[in-house]
Amino acid sequence: MTEFSHRVEQVSISGIREVFEAAGEDAINLGLGQPDFPTPEHAREGAIEAIREGKADGYTSNKGTESLREAIAGRYAEDRGIDVDPNDVIATAGGSEALHIALEAHVDEGQEVIFPDPGFVSYEALTHLAGGEPRPVGLRDDLTMDPAAVEEAITDDTAAFIVNSPANPTGAVQSPEDMREFARIADEHDVLCISDEVYEHIVFEGEHRSPLEFAETDNVVVVSACSKTYSMTGWRLGWVTGSNRRIERMLRVHQYGQACATAAAQYAAEAALTGPQEPVDEMVAAFEERRDVLLDGLADIGLDCPTPHGAFYAMPEVPEGFVDEVIDRGVVVVPGDAFGEHGEGYARISYAVDVETLREALDIMGEAYDAVQ
Ligand code: PLP
Repeated sequence: MTEFSHRVEQVSISGIREVFEAAGEDAINLGLGQPDFPTPEHAREGAIEAIREGKADGYTSNKGTESLREAIAGRYAEDRGIDVDPNDVIATAGGSEALHIALEAHVDEGQEVIFPDPGFVSYEALTHLAGGEPRPVGLRDDLTMDPAAVEEAITDDTAAFIVNSPANPTGAVQSPEDMREFARIADEHDVLCISDEVYEHIVFEGEHRSPLEFAETDNVVVVSACSKTYSMTGWRLGWVTGSNRRIERMLRVHQYGQACATAAAQYAAEAALTGPQEPVDEMVAAFEERRDVLLDGLADIGLDCPTPHGAFYAMPEVPEGFVDEVIDRGVVVVPGDAFGEHGEGYARISYAVDVETLREALDIMGEAYDAVQ
C-alpha cells in the first residue's frame, strides 16, 4: 500500500471549520478571516474586460504579467516609498502560495522556522510541509512579537523567522523599531526574515513599516496580497518580493507547482492596484469604527483586550468555558489555542461584520460571560 509522506502526516485540517459547523446556520459569525466588503467594481471590471478581450485564456509569464508586477511595484513606491523592481516579484495564488514557495525555497529538511504563537495557522503547517521544524515563540503582553525572543530562539539550525504585522489572530502592529530590529537580526544571524504583510493597509494607529526597508543584506522577503486590502480573498492573488536570487529560487517552486497565477485574477488585481484607492480607505475607516465598538463592548463585559491597531481581529483573554458558551448561544468566535498553545485562554474575534451585528453579538457575549463566571 502506498504510505503517506511523513510531512503531510504532521499536518491536519484546521479545526476552525468545525467551530462554524457546531454553531449552526443562524449563528453570528465572528470567526471569519475575510473582509465583508465587495471587491471594488473597477477590479471586477478589470477581469471582465480581460476575459472579453481573450487576454485571460492562456498562461501568463510564470512570474505574472509585466503590467501586474509593475502595478505592485508602483504601489510600494507610491504608498511607502519602497523601491521594488518588478522583475523581483512573483504573482502567486494568494499570500498562501507566497508563504509556501518562500518556505519551500529556503528551508532544508530538519531546519527550524520561528514564528509567532498565537500566529496564523499556516506557518506551522507550511513549515512541516517544507520538511522543517516549527519553533513557535510566545508574544509580549500587548500581543506583539518581541525581537529579543526571536533572537533568543535562533540556533545554528534556524532557516527563517516569520514576522506578521498587522497580525492574525491578534490585530497587533509591530512598531517601526521592532521592524528595524527584525532586519538587524536577519542580517546579523544570516537567517531569512519572511515578512507577512497581507494586512499592510489595514492600520488604525501607528505606521506599518517593513523589515525590507531596514535590512542591509537580502535576508528579507515580503509576502502580501490583494486578498484583505481589496476584499479579494476569492480571487486568489498575492505576491512575494525579494532579491533577484531569492525570487529565482522561489520561481522554481512556483513554476512547477502553479505555472502562473490565474490570468483573470491578475487583471483584476492590476485594476485594483492601479485604480482609485478610496474603497480601501472606506473599508479601513469602517473597521476602525467597529474596532472601537468591540473594544468598548468587551470592556463593559469585563474582558481584558490589548488594543488591536490593525487587521480586523481582537484577541481578549477569556475565562474557561467562555468560548463554548458563546458558541452554544449562537456567536462564533475562534478559541485562541487554534493559533498555537500560547493562545490558550484567549479568543479571536473577527469584526468583519456590521456594527449592528457586532452589538448583538456583544450582548450575547455578555450573557455568556455572566453564565461562566
Ligand atoms: N497571512 C495571514 C496572516 C493571513 O491571515 C492570511 C489569510 O487569512 C494569509 C496570509 C493568506 O492570505 P491569502 O488569502 O491571500 O492566501
